[in-house]
Amino acid sequence: MDLPLAPAPPAPHDVLQAASRLKGLVHRTPVLRSSTADELHNAQFFFKCENLQRTGSFKFRGAFNTLAQFTDEQRERGVITFSAGNHAQAIALAARLLDMPALVLMPNTALASKMAAARDYGAQVLTYDPLSEDRQAICQRLALERGMTLVPPAEHAQVIAGQGTAALELLEEVPRLDCLLVAVGGGGLLAGTLLAVQAAKAACRVYGVEPQSANDAQQSLRAGHIVQIPLPRSTIADGAQAQALGPQTFSIIRAEAEDIVTASDPDMVQAIRFFAERMKLVIEPTGALAYAAVGKAPGLDLRGLRVGVILSGGNVDLPRYARFLAD
Ligand SMILES: *Cc1c(COP(=O)(O)O)cnc(C)c1O
Repeated sequence: MDLPLAPAPPAPHDVLQAASRLKGLVHRTPVLRSSTADELHNAQFFFKCENLQRTGSFKFRGAFNTLAQFTDEQRERGVITFSAGNHAQAIALAARLLDMPALVLMPNTALASKMAAARDYGAQVLTYDPLSEDRQAICQRLALERGMTLVPPAEHAQVIAGQGTAALELLEEVPRLDCLLVAVGGGGLLAGTLLAVQAAKAACRVYGVEPQSANDAQQSLRAGHIVQIPLPRSTIADGAQAQALGPQTFSIIRAEAEDIVTASDPDMVQAIRFFAERMKLVIEPTGALAYAAVGKAPGLDLRGLRVGVILSGGNVDLPRYARFLAD
């Protein structure tokens, strides 16, 4: 089954509107520096700490921006979504703040901590088997049965516009950035970031970073059309396991992104350790993805540049986190 028709694709001014809508409701997260990172890579880094955002990732921006625009009738019936984690938590909290019911469909393989967080924020959580069941079909059926509005994690104009507000804040705070590094899953964060750069009229190149074993967006960019990959099961980046971009995210990324590069799991672990040890930041694997490519990905030469990095999230099971640090 197809997703319901999405509204018109988002434009740069939608990110500006989202920013005013979200004012006072999202944290304006800090931008941190590290002389160690700067010296190591001979560049200047500006880390936008979305791990410190409400619900622990930037996903709250897109979720709240979308739910805040529901009609009264939509509010009454509530919101439904599918997500392995951070989008679920974000939808759950945004729904609670806006006083509407939320139903979240999560894979039975999702991190226990992320499932518990969505429940704690007041959402009803249902699980499905990602290997044998089609989450979109299940979601669609439940949405129809209950009259709930489906808000997907990335392929949605208002979600994309909301995600762009993280980069917009960074661009406002740090002048003359040469480039920005952004993790890519479903592509909402990257697409929103690209719109933010346009909205801010910044001369800033934007790179997406994907896990090596889930590089569907990189393949799509190379091929010139959306490439769907089999369900990736072999990366620690649980927030970037999307199998394909959608038409909206792809058209923005194809037109505006400088390139998409990849990082390996060991590179992510190394980055997680760097953030813990040097910057005292708890970053989840997908949150470390953007920086993990630095100094590793061929074609990503940052020497002498001012580089913005979005640290996209910090939600990680503590025992798992401890293993990353102990490796
Ligand atoms: C969702 C997510 C991403 C990827 O964002 P998309 O919009 O799906 O591309 C990156 N990092 C974290 C921590 C996330 O939760």
